[in-house]
Amino acid sequence: MAELSNKVILTVATTGAWPSKNENPAVPLTPREIADEVYACWKAGASVAHIHVRDDEGKASMSYEKFKETLGYIRATDCTIVLNTTTSGGLGFDDDLRMKPFRELKPEMASYDCGSMNWLHNSVFENHPRFLEKLGPAMLEVGVKPEIEIFDAGMVYNALYYLKKGVLTAPLHFQFVLGAAGGMAATVENLVFLKSLIPAGSTWGAFGIGSGHLPILYAALALGGHIRVGMEDNVYYAKGVLAKSNVEFVERSKRIVKEFNKEVATPDEAREILGLRAR
Ligand code: ZN
Repeated sequence: MAELSNKVILTVATTGAWPSKNENPAVPLTPREIADEVYACWKAGASVAHIHVRDDEGKASMSYEKFKETLGYIRATDCTIVLNTTTSGGLGFDDDLRMKPFRELKPEMASYDCGSMNWLHNSVFENHPRFLEKLGPAMLEVGVKPEIEIFDAGMVYNALYYLKKGVLTAPLHFQFVLGAAGGMAATVENLVFLKSLIPAGSTWGAFGIGSGHLPILYAALALGGHIRVGMEDNVYYAKGVLAKSNVEFVERSKRIVKEFNKEVATPDEAREILGLRAR
């Protein structure tokens, strides 16, 4: 693993549940648009694609058919990027709907949101213990690695509890999501604190939402973590300047990683670092 210690996994989250064409006309929404954008980001050097889909109106969705179409387009190409699908997709979706895409389509990773929270001061992002206790074993059963998303410190303690109970198995992979209203703010101090809570031998990445994007990207690199970019988290390339595509974010972070004397992991190196099942 020694030669992998200098490698940084670069995840691109092209779409997410919320950004619309009104906020940035370049956000990809249809299966074709998402697949083409993932392909372009892979060509530009991204290691992992975190995937959401939208319905025909462009709204948040957990439609199995849309996931099937999107992954189908990507898999029909020579693209080797690691596929990571959401199990949330938005708010209020039924448990089975949330689990069907990874169960049937078997991406190598899927998100595991490790607790509930008030969401943007107007609703609840529910991840009931009943759901999390089903989700871990269901992912294990099909060989899908959970990406444990952490919005607040209590969610790390939930993960430790599920590790002890066998709902999750080591080594864990954490994704710290900072700057979502209702969760922890996107500060370097919060990231240092969260990192201090996770078990030795875990892997982790982090990203900040909106204006927290660059501070957390630089802090994650400095602390030895992996990084994530993309329009799910931030539609601006700079203050007042909309990103032209997700590729712009991938290219910038590749430059930053290089200047930092590290290298972006290839998809296969990401597979090795994360202990993913063979593709
Ligand atoms: Zn997501």
